[in-house]
Amino acid sequence: MHEFKYRNNQLYCENVLVGKLAKTFGTPLYVYSYHTLIDHYLKLKSAFSEINPLICYSVKANSNLSILKALIAQGAGLDIVSGGELFRAQKAACPPQRIVYASVGKTDKEISSAIARGILFFNVESLAELKNINRIAKGLNKITRVAIRINPDVEAKTHKYISTGKITNKFGIDLASAYKILLLRVKFKHLNICGLHIHIGSQITQSAPFVEAIKKVADFIQRLKNNGLALEYLNIGGGLGIIYDREDPQTAEIYANEIIPLLKKTGLKIIMEPGRFILGNAGILVVKVLYIKHTPKKKFIIVDGGMNDLIRPALYNAYHQIVPLSRRVGELEKVDVVGPICESGDFLAKERLMAKVKEGDYLAVMSAGAYGFSMSSNYNSRLRAAEVMVAKNKALVIRKRESAQDLVRNEVMVNNFTKR
Ligand SMILES: *Cc1c(COP(=O)(O)O)cnc(C)c1O
Repeated sequence: MHEFKYRNNQLYCENVLVGKLAKTFGTPLYVYSYHTLIDHYLKLKSAFSEINPLICYSVKANSNLSILKALIAQGAGLDIVSGGELFRAQKAACPPQRIVYASVGKTDKEISSAIARGILFFNVESLAELKNINRIAKGLNKITRVAIRINPDVEAKTHKYISTGKITNKFGIDLASAYKILLLRVKFKHLNICGLHIHIGSQITQSAPFVEAIKKVADFIQRLKNNGLALEYLNIGGGLGIIYDREDPQTAEIYANEIIPLLKKTGLKIIMEPGRFILGNAGILVVKVLYIKHTPKKKFIIVDGGMNDLIRPALYNAYHQIVPLSRRVGELEKVDVVGPICESGDFLAKERLMAKVKEGDYLAVMSAGAYGFSMSSNYNSRLRAAEVMVAKNKALVIRKRESAQDLVRNEVMVNNFTKR
């Protein structure tokens, strides 16, 4: 559930009128509900209270420093995937023993700064990377913890771009190779290979793929144990799906009930990495209708937010509900909601039945809290949107709208070209 609701046909975020935010801060505008995101975090935490996992929020879903701060204050750790995210974690004062670091392509510089920072562990995705971390740790005269990311070869039943646990995906290490590595783990003198990691994909709405993957890994852990190879951590990743349209995803409780028995049996300390589950429904993108355009075949609602602000429809053909900030009764019509960008892929909705809107109206693109702003860009030299966080009656700007100066900040203009 979330705290974006109509009162007297006006959309509110908690106790704040969203229309007022749009007028005060301009559009396109991301608006987040503090209580929704905290509530989602706490739902997961309480569903799993029996095994008390470390919940490492996946920074890439929404990396705003205030959002990281809010979750860290609740006791969350962070799941990072780059040196930039390590920097953000540090800025937000996340205790390093609550940071885990995954990515198939960590650079030497990223690895050494994470070791220096003393993060909980790396999720290692290849033998080559394992050797490299060992080499770098040796140079720093450190022993660093790592978990091996297992590719369990399961079908996550989600969009192919966000499925990560099939053996044809670039992520993780197959079980046989992982076994060989673990047999020889004493050879990596500067590594403490103390855990396993899985993350099979994102927006997974049923527990079956999770259960299948965890069963495989739990069996593997048992086999290791039988051979005298003990571990400390099992990181089960993220991927919990949310409601965008008519999905009926498992609740935190159902998910917990299905997997807690399997997790308990491993006897390991459990880590989770939810992103979308926490932020997805806690944010919206507010846009303004610029023009209504009729063509012989279609009606287009042209709005001031586009694929540079929210790329999910263009990238995954993702569905986002779109609702007016001021609700009116009226006939429905079929429209395409599109942005101003010079690409036909720049749409927010296609062939969508919506109540009639007019120029100047504001619309809310729902469930845009995760993989919304964090995937936004300056394409078409558009300024990235502002972000506002609402808590009860208060609205705080947590990211200012970019300025034209921000666009060219790092550019070097060569002036002395001569005409030839
Ligand atoms: C992206 C990612 C997550 C979070 O995925 P969600 O679907 O947002 O929960 C967790 N772990 C890893 C390794 C990731 O890459």
